[in-house]
Amino acid sequence: MSLLQVLFRRRLNITALRSIELCEFFLDKALRVAGPVLIALAAVLISAVVYIYFSVLLFANVGTPFHSFKALAHVALGLSLLFNLVFNYAYCVITPPGHPPSLDRTSGSASDIEGQNESADSDDEGEYAPGQTRWCRRCRRAKPALTHHCHVCGKCILKMDHHCPWLDNCVGFFNYRYFLLFITYLWLGCIYVLLMTIQPLFRAEDPEKPLSTVVFAFTLCFAVAIALGCLLAWHLFLILTAQTTVEFHVNRQRRADARKAGQVWSNEFNLGPIRNFKNTLDVQGPFWWCVWLLPRLRPPKGDGCLFPVRGESSQPAVSPPLVSVGSQRHLYKVLP
Ligand SMILES: [Zn+2]
Ligand SMILES: [Zn+2]
Repeated sequence: MSLLQVLFRRRLNITALRSIELCEFFLDKALRVAGPVLIALAAVLISAVVYIYFSVLLFANVGTPFHSFKALAHVALGLSLLFNLVFNYAYCVITPPGHPPSLDRTSGSASDIEGQNESADSDDEGEYAPGQTRWCRRCRRAKPALTHHCHVCGKCILKMDHHCPWLDNCVGFFNYRYFLLFITYLWLGCIYVLLMTIQPLFRAEDPEKPLSTVVFAFTLCFAVAIALGCLLAWHLFLILTAQTTVEFHVNRQRRADARKAGQVWSNEFNLGPIRNFKNTLDVQGPFWWCVWLLPRLRPPKGDGCLFPVRGESSQPAVSPPLVSVGSQRHLYKVLP
């Protein structure tokens, strides 16, 4: 069941659900085809703004001689932003988000699964309670906590956040950090370019005739900065509350269900904003608040199947392998 169906499952009849499924089928196909096109478009737009920056904006702001300290500082800042942007974008695209290990019901580990509290043999995204075994019919694999099936990729994704057509990839456990840094540096880059367009647009000798390239850079960066600013704020909220985009909607349903039952639901993965931030971005030490911005090739600690939960803070930083343990708790929930 897709996220859309989960959101409206109590308000739709079978016919409406079938219609949604059909629409989603064609949307998934369209997204799969559009992925490479959108990546090429992103590369072209970024390249265009970089060209305008080095050919027009830089000279308009620093003037001549070009070897001044101000010019070198601008070049260093521009190249730094560009490197981090391209680096994180490239690795977000090429890094697999992570998939659950193969552990189907015909394997030797089947006894670990059969007979336990499975959630109706389905890939339902919203019907399980913490600790229950979830199962994906399409992948024929168990789904660890926070794992969801991506209908575009056709696979289950560990700690799935969303499928991004601009990346032609899912954002999940192993590439979320690259994704967050990509939108962070892209947003910072847009703000920087916007500031650089002030001089040629509004303070030039002949402001009535601004260069069309500068207008193009200003318009593009302004629109992207607004959209990315909202997206960045949204993901910072998710990180600080230990949620993914998918889990946010599922948690909202869980909270509403608990409220109807006269109970209070709380997110067991929420360890507090700072610990959530450190765990999600895998940063430690006294300088964690700035280290997270540095480029890094090392994959995040853990396997994407096990996550720390509230009230059990002594768990190891690196979880044991999923397939090596037999209890339901280790297989499908969290810790230690
Ligand atoms: Zn699946
Ligand atoms: Zn996907």
